[in-house]
Amino acid sequence: MTARRIVLLGPPGSGKGTQAVRLAAWLGVPHISTGDLLRSEVQNRTKLGLQAQSFMDRGELVPDQLVAEMIRQRIKGATGFVLDGFPRNIKQAEILETVTTVDRVLHFQLDREEIIRRLSARRVCPQCGAVYNLISSLPQQDSLCDKCKIGLVQRSDDTPEVIQRRIDVQYAREIGPMLEFYRKRNVLREIDAQGDIESVYQAAQRALE
Ligand code: AMP
Repeated sequence: MTARRIVLLGPPGSGKGTQAVRLAAWLGVPHISTGDLLRSEVQNRTKLGLQAQSFMDRGELVPDQLVAEMIRQRIKGATGFVLDGFPRNIKQAEILETVTTVDRVLHFQLDREEIIRRLSARRVCPQCGAVYNLISSLPQQDSLCDKCKIGLVQRSDDTPEVIQRRIDVQYAREIGPMLEFYRKRNVLREIDAQGDIESVYQAAQRALE
């Protein structure tokens, strides 16, 4: 049976957000991105958004207890989901285990040079959040969102300095123990994220069978 409660792990820029959208549509389950949820809290200037913003601007993790409550509300009772950006550390993996079972964890692997190259070229629509890439996934009209027809922008945390911090502080330090955690539970599958969107998608689908 195809797995339906799925976690995607990988460095920023590994394409897990793009793949999460496609996999969720394929499986008919919600795509839950903690980054998107937090950016919407920041935009709406909620209490959580105001607390989270400075961590996000610095490229650091928002404290676990703030994110945990948000994710708990979102997945309580869900029979399927594609989680993108959560968990980010062992503590969060343990919290997740108290809320739901995870059927499969896909780890998207990508080397550092390629991460920086991709993130520097990433552009987003400030209205609908659609993601484009100046190297691999151009909009139809120069710098305009295909759907909203408004100018694309660079995420404020996609600058070289903040990218380095997101890789070092968030990812490199935390990924090893999380992989070990899920390997022990026999749900981990490795995905080579170096290829184009379609071939990575096919590899991800196969890993969920
Ligand atoms: P992302 O869109 O996944 O790259 O997330 C953008 C930012 O949101 C990250 O750099 C963190 O500051 C914050 N964030 C997203 N998910 C989490 C999480 N699970 N735990 C803590 N902070 C998070």
